[in-house]
Amino acid sequence: MTNRTLEDRYGRVATDLRVSLTDRCNLRCSYCMPAEGLDWLPDDSVLSDDEVVRLIAIGVQQLGIREVRFTGGEPLVRRGLVDIVRRTRSLDPALELSITTNALGLTRTAQALADAGLNRVNVSLDTVRPDTFHEITRRDRLQDVVAGLEAARAAGLGPIKINAVLLRGVNDDQAGELLRWSLERGYDLRFIEQMPLDAQHGWSREAMVTAEEIFAQLEREFDLSPAAEPRGSAPAELFRVDGGPATVGVIASVTRPFCGDCDRVRLTADGQVRNCLFAREESDLRGALRAGAGDEEIAERWVVAMRGKRAGHGIDDPTFLQPDRPMSAIGG
Ligand code: SAM
Ligand code: SF4
Repeated sequence: MTNRTLEDRYGRVATDLRVSLTDRCNLRCSYCMPAEGLDWLPDDSVLSDDEVVRLIAIGVQQLGIREVRFTGGEPLVRRGLVDIVRRTRSLDPALELSITTNALGLTRTAQALADAGLNRVNVSLDTVRPDTFHEITRRDRLQDVVAGLEAARAAGLGPIKINAVLLRGVNDDQAGELLRWSLERGYDLRFIEQMPLDAQHGWSREAMVTAEEIFAQLEREFDLSPAAEPRGSAPAELFRVDGGPATVGVIASVTRPFCGDCDRVRLTADGQVRNCLFAREESDLRGALRAGAGDEEIAERWVVAMRGKRAGHGIDDPTFLQPDRPMSAIGG
């Protein structure tokens, strides 16, 4: 039963929990990780399946969480994923349950995930050209991603969303091509502005491809009209393509931040609550859990962690500091 909420000082209430299940990954997207990978979290610092499910249960049963999305790193490389999904589903039949994934290996697990109670998948795919895919991810796995998408559809894990990041001089001329490919297959494409969350600190405001540019590029090939639904806390600005019903989304996280409507909170694979992707502080729930704290005490720590949430990410602020952890360790 919900007896309090995760409300911050600005009146925003977090109901959407992003849970990172691992910081490891089988791709090396250049905007996320260096080619050689990262120093992975030591095994004993990563939450066990029981610990993850217990924290999610506290969020859902005591703190008003209504949506849980598993992410990483790559959540499909977490061995216990299907079981974690099943146990999370058993907490509440109305919970919205999804994963954000690169889709590698989804051909093997899509049906099991659907049977365990997963509602949807978000798949990250930045190009449909094999050479560009290799340039971005440093792996030749495009066909496996395409097969993973098809397996997700066959398992009923829709509507399937595709997230794409455009990189200057790499795939910034491929927005239209990716949209056409997605439309032909019935996937909902959303472009996301590149954010300063790469481990190598290679992001620059000047080089990033802006939502405005993406929109202008798409408009040359498609007729775009604002979709009727209000934006609410959903970050994507949605446009009807060629009169609809298909839509395309553009998420202007940097140039038109939606922090004022944010309803998210994150749990890292090593059990730290982050009230924002760009937070500089974390709250250690794993330590409390392993020290024998009860659910009440953990819930209280979580509530307190939310009070420190800042009004906005401040990427444009001269004092902006990139968080210590990269996206793959926070959970994108
Ligand atoms: N491995 C999974 C995947 O790629 O979908 C889940 C984790 S990944 C960190 C989550 C999302 O973050 C992906 O859609 C990815 O494109 C996005 N991402 C990673 N680094 C980013 C960055 N610097 N700016 C914007 N999006 C980024
Ligand atoms: Fe892996 Fe996802 Fe990061 Fe790409 S964006 S390296 S798939 S965690």
